[in-house]
Amino acid sequence: MPSKSQELFRKALRLMPGGVNSPVRAFRAVGGDPVFISSGKGSRITDVDGRSYIDFVMSWGPLVLGHCHPEVVEAVAKALGTGTSFGASTAAEVVLAECLVEAFPSMERVRLVSSGTEATISAVRVARAATGREKILKFEGCYHGHGDSFLVKAGSGVATLGLPDSPGVPRALAELTITVPFNDTQALEEAFRVHHRQLAAAVVEPVAGNMGVVPPREGFLEKLRSLTAEHGTVLIFDEVITGFRIAYGGAQQTCRVQPDLTTLGKIIGGGLPVGAYGGKAALMDLVAPVGPVYQAGTLSGNPLAVSAGLKTLEILRRPGTYDRLNSLSEKLTAGLGAEAKRAGVALAINRVASMFTPFFTRGPVVDYASARKAETSAFAGFFRAMLEQGVYFPPSQFEAAFVSAAHSEDDVQKTIAAAAKAFAKVAGIPKAVVD
Ligand SMILES: *Cc1c(COP(=O)(O)O)cnc(C)c1O
Repeated sequence: MPSKSQELFRKALRLMPGGVNSPVRAFRAVGGDPVFISSGKGSRITDVDGRSYIDFVMSWGPLVLGHCHPEVVEAVAKALGTGTSFGASTAAEVVLAECLVEAFPSMERVRLVSSGTEATISAVRVARAATGREKILKFEGCYHGHGDSFLVKAGSGVATLGLPDSPGVPRALAELTITVPFNDTQALEEAFRVHHRQLAAAVVEPVAGNMGVVPPREGFLEKLRSLTAEHGTVLIFDEVITGFRIAYGGAQQTCRVQPDLTTLGKIIGGGLPVGAYGGKAALMDLVAPVGPVYQAGTLSGNPLAVSAGLKTLEILRRPGTYDRLNSLSEKLTAGLGAEAKRAGVALAINRVASMFTPFFTRGPVVDYASARKAETSAFAGFFRAMLEQGVYFPPSQFEAAFVSAAHSEDDVQKTIAAAAKAFAKVAGIPKAVVD
């Protein structure tokens, strides 16, 4: 008899492309049908068939406090009772803007939008307007939402599905996007030499999360900063994942490199739809109504979303939050690494703070090409074995897993124990030919 999830998926397949509203949810990369979720609480989610899972997707990053944090729920409920949207200014959005500007010293002014995609599209528009140039530079395997200009050698679902670049994107636009391997300073210098004075913006995930987690090499972001400054190119840090995740002040706080513009999303909405872009006043004042660059949104700064974001940031500011998140994550990845070794499974685990990816390869994974060497069939086997044991990992090798403040020591021990069994199964999967 089919499960409720299977019944729903069959119906969804008739109604939505691939049965889903975002591609990676369809489980294409790991096989089997997706589970439909009915509720979440703390570190756990429950599916429509009543099965419970320890969740390491956490809505792909926003839920740094876990599901239904009582204080966040209370804040949203309060906002709900006083009006869901006005299309006019509110006090709360000013407080959130102030929080963001205080957390990110590189940001003098900020504009709230409704998604990370909107934030990156808008930031690039500002950079093009500011420089009068059209080309942008991005890195292979980095994902910046589904804006036309970014769907060139993109990560996340584009990488998972192995899609060719940008069908539906006008060639003329795609040609304006230059790509360079992540962490490759030589290729970067070469790109700036070739496209001298034509690059409006260089956009990067300062810690990559969308080809799986890949940290920047020593000196890579510094080089990017000095080249962009030298060539009058706007440096955009896409901190949609890393903002308030790696540290309260994002990756730019820990790497000590200051971009010209920053994009945010995910955590700043506390599980509701919010994005933001901001930076130097001279750049942001190009945006309407002060300047001529048009960007608007009916639900921008939505009161419900802002209330969830504000409360989430307030809780994150409490002492010890990040230390606990990071030490729990370290315990988890150390345990996974030890069990993989014991089972004889080649596993390269990349972790930065509370985001990590277990790559099924000897590694090291330092860019998109090395991430691609991972055995996706082994990952798929691991994913399914974990799911069967009640642990929900991202359903793709090329995504980050997230630990939240709601995860416990017990969750970590259970996950490690489940992984030990999963690795034993994976060790039996014939190796695909690599290299
Ligand atoms: C998720 C993500 C985006 C897109 O955000 P959406 O809210 O999904 O539109 C952009 N950049 C990065 C780095 C992301 O991880």
